[in-house]
Amino acid sequence: MNAFFHHAGCGMRASSLVSFTAWCLTSVLLHSANSFGGEYLSGIEWAEPAVVTPGTTAGAAPSDAIILFDGTDASAWQGVDRWTVADGALIVGKGMITTKQAFGDCQLHIEWASPENPTGTGQSRGNSGLFFGPYEIQILDSYNNATYFDGQAAAIYKQKPPLVNAMRKPGEWNTYDVIWQGPRFSAEGGLERPASVTVLHNGVLVQNHFQLLGDTPYNRPPRYKPHPPELPIRLQDHNNPVQFRNIWVRPITAIEANRTAPAGIREGTTFMPIDPNTKKTGG
Ligand code: MG
Repeated sequence: MNAFFHHAGCGMRASSLVSFTAWCLTSVLLHSANSFGGEYLSGIEWAEPAVVTPGTTAGAAPSDAIILFDGTDASAWQGVDRWTVADGALIVGKGMITTKQAFGDCQLHIEWASPENPTGTGQSRGNSGLFFGPYEIQILDSYNNATYFDGQAAAIYKQKPPLVNAMRKPGEWNTYDVIWQGPRFSAEGGLERPASVTVLHNGVLVQNHFQLLGDTPYNRPPRYKPHPPELPIRLQDHNNPVQFRNIWVRPITAIEANRTAPAGIREGTTFMPIDPNTKKTGG
């Protein structure tokens, strides 16, 4: 201990050494208090996490999901009258379709299948897209179909290829599970927080909290243009009859918390406040 203090005290002024020594002694006391069963209390009273019944399979909608397509009812979408619902699937027709409801930060599940008998190559094979506002997660037949990597399935279009290619064969159902956090803009229109996205393709991590550089157009670099936190979700018509099913979304809502007491260590009837940021005890 003496050697430790001697070393730690090198170059310290006397006042610093005194406070450092007091901190060390307090830490030792706290450590010994913990050894005898003292309980750390954060002092924050959390709201109870809601009970959510998980789906029976990984892709089945949990109890609090908003259903965007269940195999028959496509009424959550605008423009869907020019698409086709058949055999439990929603098939790309003419024009993009757009959710009637706007969404911000959310968890989204979608299943999609490329045409079983593909035509075309590269970007012309099984192309569609999942858009959160102006930001596209690419949908493409990337099974033995070469194209630019930041344009293949599960790419953030023109910004970031997927970590791996987890594509199933044409005609087979793929899943995307997406954690989307939209950008935030100041009242003056400045970017306060870029959008970020995590994507699982068929249960495989392909985008890991990627921070978007802006929107995802074909013909110019990405850029951010201010918009509200919540925007519609869209599915792209790229002239290929891609099929969709089992689409659901869960808005991400921050859990409430209120500090109702200081943080500290409780042992028996005594309570020693502790600063959760510095770990130092207070008076
Ligand atoms: Mg596309």
